[in-house]
Amino acid sequence: MNCPYCDYNDCKVIDSRDAGDGIRRRRQCLKCGARFTTYERLHPGNLFVIKKDGRREEFDTAKLLTGIRKACEKRPLPTGAVDKLADDIEAELCQQGKAEVPAAAVGDMVMKRLKALDHIAYIRFASVYREFTDVATFKEVVDTLIRGEKASPYPTNQLPLLPDEQLEILAGSRQGNRK
Ligand SMILES: [Zn+2]
Repeated sequence: MNCPYCDYNDCKVIDSRDAGDGIRRRRQCLKCGARFTTYERLHPGNLFVIKKDGRREEFDTAKLLTGIRKACEKRPLPTGAVDKLADDIEAELCQQGKAEVPAAAVGDMVMKRLKALDHIAYIRFASVYREFTDVATFKEVVDTLIRGEKASPYPTNQLPLLPDEQLEILAGSRQGNRK
């Protein structure tokens, strides 16, 4: 890896330690002496994303990062927050240890994290990911944020995020119908 400060192509490792799902290395540039940290992790080479139309596509962290960056453009986020978000998702996908993952699941992972990070970025991402075609859908998502997560902003093929009480009522009514 090139030095992030002067772009020189050689550095030495000062310190290495285990970082859960990878290795954290403290490095020092051999030219300018700057110190920086890198993380090494197993490449999710065999992970495929299944698109809505059934196509399989190799999981691409750079592509994921581009989408998240676009949503977070000009938002007052801490440095590295976007990269960390993409890294977290990649790590979580690796941990799941599956060969294939639906694109919708990856999208939901991004939505969940953006919602906690920045509401404007969340709405921007949602508008692309959920393919808002009218103002009503847009308003629905914004209303959801304003109401404070009472309803699910996620696609209807997911379980709604209902409070336990309501889930119990639902479960009860379902049992009732099964007589
Ligand atoms: Zn350097």
